[in-house]
Amino acid sequence: RRAEFAAIRALPAETKDGDRIGLMVNAGLAEDAAMLEATGADGIGLFRTEFQFLIAATLPGRESQLRLYRSVLEAAGDKPVVFRTVDIGGDKALPYLSEDEKDESENPAMGWRALRLSLERKALMKAQARALIEASGGKTLRVMFPMVSEPWEYEEARALFEEQLAWAKSAKRAGPKAVEFGAMLEVPSLAETLDLLLPRVDFLSIGTNDLTQFLFAADRADPRLAERYDWLSPAILRFLRRVSTQAKEANVPVRVCGEMAGRPLEAMALIGIGIDNFSITPAAVGPVKAMVRSIDAQAVRTKVEALLAKPPANMRKSLGDWAKRHG
Ligand code: PEP
Ligand code: MG
Repeated sequence: RRAEFAAIRALPAETKDGDRIGLMVNAGLAEDAAMLEATGADGIGLFRTEFQFLIAATLPGRESQLRLYRSVLEAAGDKPVVFRTVDIGGDKALPYLSEDEKDESENPAMGWRALRLSLERKALMKAQARALIEASGGKTLRVMFPMVSEPWEYEEARALFEEQLAWAKSAKRAGPKAVEFGAMLEVPSLAETLDLLLPRVDFLSIGTNDLTQFLFAADRADPRLAERYDWLSPAILRFLRRVSTQAKEANVPVRVCGEMAGRPLEAMALIGIGIDNFSITPAAVGPVKAMVRSIDAQAVRTKVEALLAKPPANMRKSLGDWAKRHG
C-alpha cells in the first residue's frame, strides 16, 4: 500500500466526479514542515505552537518563537500555514509556569487552558502575536484561536492581534501582506452562537478531538471510553453537518483538523455531509487521498444523507459495507 500511496503523491485529491478535497497536515515542530514535500499535502492546516513551549525548559521568548515560525513558513514556501495560538494549561501544564498557574483541577480539559489562559496572560499572547506578525513579513498570516467557547473570546484575541499589527505598521516593522483570522470550533457552545461569529471569521476549523469529548462528556484520554463512542455516530455527524451547512451559507470555509478526518471511512462520512477540507496527521494523507480518488462524492452524499435521516443500529458497519461495495 505504501507504494500505492507514493504513486498518488503528486496526483490531486479529487473524487471520481471531480470534487477537489483539501488535504493539509497537522504539525508542531520545525521538522514537520518537511512533511509537506513528503506527503504532497496542500499546506499545514494546524500548527500546534504549544509544542515549542512543552519541550522547552524555560518559557520560549519572542525571538525563539520568531525563529520557529519563520523556518516553518520558509519550508512551506507558497503553501499556507495556519498557526494556532498556544493551547497550554490544563493537562498541558508547563513546569516553568508559577505555582498558581499549575492546574490541579479534576477536569483539566475543561479547565483554565488555551484561549482562556491566553486572555488572562496577555503578555504571553502579545509576544506570540509579535513573533507571528514579524515572521509573516510579506506573506499572509493565518492565525486561529483554540477553545473558543463564546464569540467575545475570539473578538478579544483578534483585537489583541490587530493592536499588534497596527503597532508593527506604525513602527514601520515588516508585517504580513494579509491576515486571516479563524476560530477553532471544539467547544459545543460555540455552535449555538455561530450567527454572531461567522461574519467575523475568515475560516472555521473544527477540532473533533476535543469536540467529541465535550459532546459525549467522555474524556479523550480515558482508554476505558476509547471504544464506547464512535466518530461515525449520528450525534457527531448531525452536529458537524449543521455547523458546516451554516458556515457554508455564510461563505466561511470549514476545515476539520481532528484525528477523525485522518481515518478514511470517517473522512468519507465527512465528505458525505459536505465537508471538503481536512488537516490530518501526515501518515494519513496517503490513505485518505486514496479513498478520495476512489469515491463518487455525489453517491457518498446521497448515502450518508439517507443513513442520517434514519440511522441504522450500527452506522460504522452500514457505511463500511456500502464503502466496500462502492470502491
Ligand atoms: C482537536 O481538539 O481536535 C484538535 C485538533 O486540537 P488538539 O488535538 O491539539 O486539542
Ligand atoms: Mg483541541
